[in-house]
Amino acid sequence: MNYRPGRIFLSVPHMGGHEKNYVQKALEDNWVATNGPNLPGFEHDICQHTNARHAVALNTGTAALHLALHLLGVKAGDEVLCSTFTFVASASPIMYLGAVPVFVESEERTWNMCPETLRDAIAARLKAGRRPAAIVLVHLYGMPAELSQLMAVADEFGIPVVEDAAESLGSRYSGHQVGTIGRMGVFSFDGNKIITTSGGGALVTEDQQLAEQALFLATHARDAAPFYQHSQMGYNYRMSNISAGIGRGQLEMLEKRVKQRREVFTYYKNQLQHIEGLAFLQELKTCFSNRWLTTVLLPESHHPEQVRLALEEANIETRPLYKPLHLQPLFAAYPYYGNSMSAGLFERGLCLPSSSSLTEEELEKVVKHLRRVLESV
Ligand SMILES: *Cc1c(COP(=O)(O)O)cnc(C)c1O
Repeated sequence: MNYRPGRIFLSVPHMGGHEKNYVQKALEDNWVATNGPNLPGFEHDICQHTNARHAVALNTGTAALHLALHLLGVKAGDEVLCSTFTFVASASPIMYLGAVPVFVESEERTWNMCPETLRDAIAARLKAGRRPAAIVLVHLYGMPAELSQLMAVADEFGIPVVEDAAESLGSRYSGHQVGTIGRMGVFSFDGNKIITTSGGGALVTEDQQLAEQALFLATHARDAAPFYQHSQMGYNYRMSNISAGIGRGQLEMLEKRVKQRREVFTYYKNQLQHIEGLAFLQELKTCFSNRWLTTVLLPESHHPEQVRLALEEANIETRPLYKPLHLQPLFAAYPYYGNSMSAGLFERGLCLPSSSSLTEEELEKVVKHLRRVLESV
């Protein structure tokens, strides 16, 4: 990593100002661990912002995914369908449980799981006598997946859906916040996401029993007894009251952060769309993206790595798109269904600096260098 002064990063935390009030109160009142008023406060605020019925604040998004799959009863040897075009943490929890990830290819319009490929994959697994236990469906880079079609396929076969909305807090599909449509949804508040708790996550669900079970499992699955008694295996996954305080301040800013990230996208689009062969990911009519990261597909004349290195010279951080999970050495042995669409995205795409705190000057600088590289052949 390169921390030369003046560096323009891909995505950085952006405090709103009120975080320190919540944190200071927590410090003054000695609520510095995994109990205290910011936790129910933050969970209440998450529900307010997303229209979820229940939220459980956890120490990472990965933990939230792990608990969601555990709560669905996924166990060793079970198969779990998962988007291939995503960050590794969408699939790691499948492995934690000793289950088998079965990767499903994306479709062109949203870059998220293809409903037809999902149907093919389920049919093939059923034919092999292997009934999938769950579906992990990702909304990547803030873009909602084709939820109505995907949910229709999942419902037809009675397979529960976990929405990995780690990158998509504030995004909507047909007016509904993503993360609230499947059986459970997961958000991340890692430092590079649209809002942060310094590190954290949340599980949301309509089902009160699932929410109660998630909290129970996240706090060592302690039975109701005056002494420590345990009948089930639990985890230590609860968020701290300090982090929840940061989260409360951050959530106050969510709408503004979505607006700012969308403005970053619009700026790049307006400044760069004239370049022949360059393409932006468009929203479907049913979709509203938080535009967590602005991504571009580059003209075939320019390899992403060449562009990345040229911007690196100017102290600007960009990043290749995710390398699909079915191409990762870690997952080479697992089933995959699709036409390799996402491998093509990986070959052509780049994530641009997308922080909500980017100044006009910084955006101009990124565009200037992108043009310099892309307009020279
Ligand atoms: C960040 C992320 C996660 C994991 O969240 P953490 O809070 O970092 O554990 C999971 N899935 C996707 C798609 C992510 O981007």
